[in-house]
Amino acid sequence: MVTSSLGMNVANTPGSVSFLCPKCQQTTIVRARNEREIAAKFTCKSCGFTGPN
Ligand SMILES: [Zn+2]
Repeated sequence: MVTSSLGMNVANTPGSVSFLCPKCQQTTIVRARNEREIAAKFTCKSCGFTGPN
């Protein structure tokens, strides 16, 4: 697995997760492990849903 910091794909980062928006289930949200560790919020592009859950 390539671990170069250049061109790194979040979806291929160990510990990353992806899931459908819990509100509209239209958009796949991808979160890197680092984003979870710092409790970064996400925003659904389709419905505007935000949250860490
Ligand atoms: Zn949504």
